[in-house]
Amino acid sequence: SSHKEVHGFQTEVKQLLQLMIHSLYSNKEIFLRELVSNAADAADKLRFKALSDASLYDGDANLRVRISADKDNNTITISDNGIGMTRDDIITHLGTIAKSGTADFFSRLSGDQAADSQLIGQFGVGFYSAFIVADKVVVRSRAAGVDADQAVEWSSKGEGDFSVENIEKSNRGTDIILFLKEDEKEFLDDWRLKSIVTKYSDHISIPVEMLTPEVPEVPESKGEDGEVIPAVPGKPSQWESVNKAEALWTREKADIKDEEYQEFYKHVSHDFAEPLLWAHNKVEGSTEYTSLLYIPSKAPFDLYNRERQHGLKLYVQRVFIMDDAEQFMPTYLRFVKGLLDSNDLPLNVSREILQDNKVTQAMRKGCTKRVLTMLDRLGKNDADKYQTFWNEFGQVIKEGPAEDFANKEAIGKLLRFASTHNDTSVQNVSLTDYIERMKEGQDKIYYVVADSFEAAKNSPHLEVFRKKGIEVLLMSDRIDEWLMSHLTEFSEKQFQSVTRGGLDLGDMDDEQSKEAQQQLEKEFDSVVTRLKESLGDKVKDVKISQRLTDSPACIVTDEHDMSSQMIKLMQSVGQ
Ligand code: ADP
Ligand code: MG
Repeated sequence: SSHKEVHGFQTEVKQLLQLMIHSLYSNKEIFLRELVSNAADAADKLRFKALSDASLYDGDANLRVRISADKDNNTITISDNGIGMTRDDIITHLGTIAKSGTADFFSRLSGDQAADSQLIGQFGVGFYSAFIVADKVVVRSRAAGVDADQAVEWSSKGEGDFSVENIEKSNRGTDIILFLKEDEKEFLDDWRLKSIVTKYSDHISIPVEMLTPEVPEVPESKGEDGEVIPAVPGKPSQWESVNKAEALWTREKADIKDEEYQEFYKHVSHDFAEPLLWAHNKVEGSTEYTSLLYIPSKAPFDLYNRERQHGLKLYVQRVFIMDDAEQFMPTYLRFVKGLLDSNDLPLNVSREILQDNKVTQAMRKGCTKRVLTMLDRLGKNDADKYQTFWNEFGQVIKEGPAEDFANKEAIGKLLRFASTHNDTSVQNVSLTDYIERMKEGQDKIYYVVADSFEAAKNSPHLEVFRKKGIEVLLMSDRIDEWLMSHLTEFSEKQFQSVTRGGLDLGDMDDEQSKEAQQQLEKEFDSVVTRLKESLGDKVKDVKISQRLTDSPACIVTDEHDMSSQMIKLMQSVGQ
């Protein structure tokens, strides 16, 4: 029996469908990109599985995707001969959203269409984008290695539910049939379809085929003077590739257009927005690999979700091996997307093998350097774009010095802070800028960490610095105390918290103020003694200081004690 069942969509899928239909009307054609992208993924997955079981090809190893339009029935069909889906696969993959943090994502939608469509861009739309142009979608699929009578058909109008039933399907793979909405018939036009494929899917590594128009035979005829004009044989319609069908990263850099890199990003990252930056490199020598690394323009909504999948797509000799190989990037660069194609790893490499492997380590080292260099260059060449990057990912970069000791200096170059130089909360002062502005005789980088920007900016500890015109970095992010406990120097300059220890402004303290200090200490000796007596064990010491100009007193931490900020942080995690 066909065993027909009706299933309700997961709530989030229903929301996604609604949102998509209403917010993506100006960019409808992307449905084709998403479906072709899925077909290419399905081909990759089959090739990978066939590495250990070649019988899965079942005599059909030329993987491709075919697109055709049927004007009589108002349908477009996208067919692949990739891995296919079983009944269980289809119910999970086309009925739920598997991403971690999905519920949280949907709770953030505001109902404001412009804002929501931005968000959805980050989320990615995938298969469900079929419903932008179709009011009914039928998916017929037969998984590799499964008998013809075990295929499955999924059908839905994109409202609350979908049905599944068992069918016969003679060939392996997946057909997606879109029943176009009344006013979306423009997509039935072959030229239109072809131009969408070239625009978005040129870089897909399997052929995207369409039927050539049928050319009717021209029969023999007689010309005006009675001469015989020979017949011209017709040409039957045939499948022809309309894309380059070459893995983008294997091509020469000089031959690849920016738009191609951008479209490829959307395919590998399942992101909808443009990438901010990318680097494409062939590495030769003791380890050989190609890397294509992208920095997204927006932080994903689940950047801080520990279960979030991240990492690079891994290929070995152009064969897809796995998604989300997280071994190639340190945690503080977990937002980097893209792929690696190794010539040295074995084709049967597993996550376990990757874990403790010399090749992996060399590639990780190389890729980390690559990303740090690319970001440093961006910082030097395009301050605006770098600011966009920093606003999205700066907090994560600040995890770097604690995690990656070897690259401390390179990470230091990427850091940006607010400072007393411009006194705004915008974090746009680099350590290099700071050092350039250091006063004659100043040998330390001064900073203050507080609970908020306002508290940092108005800290009484800053008074003497302001008076002397010495710049101080103003830090108030949750992670800053952690960062500063690992970042002790940059470019051979020590960091010095202005709230710590005896403040030695070095050569900047002139003779005059040293004399003044002695004078003050004498004058207020009895006040200090009385304060010490009344405060007792609550303080270590009471000292006369010149660091204040307006406030009467402030609390200072001893050089090697935990700062008050760190104490708060430890308390907040229950220490
Ligand atoms: P994503 O591609 O980001 O995983 P999609 O919504 O595009 O999300 O697709 C959801 C899932 O449905 C895919 O991960 C895959 O498992 C399955 N799928 C979609 N299209 C195909 C296809 N043509 N062949 C096999 N599986 C598919
Ligand atoms: Mg997809």
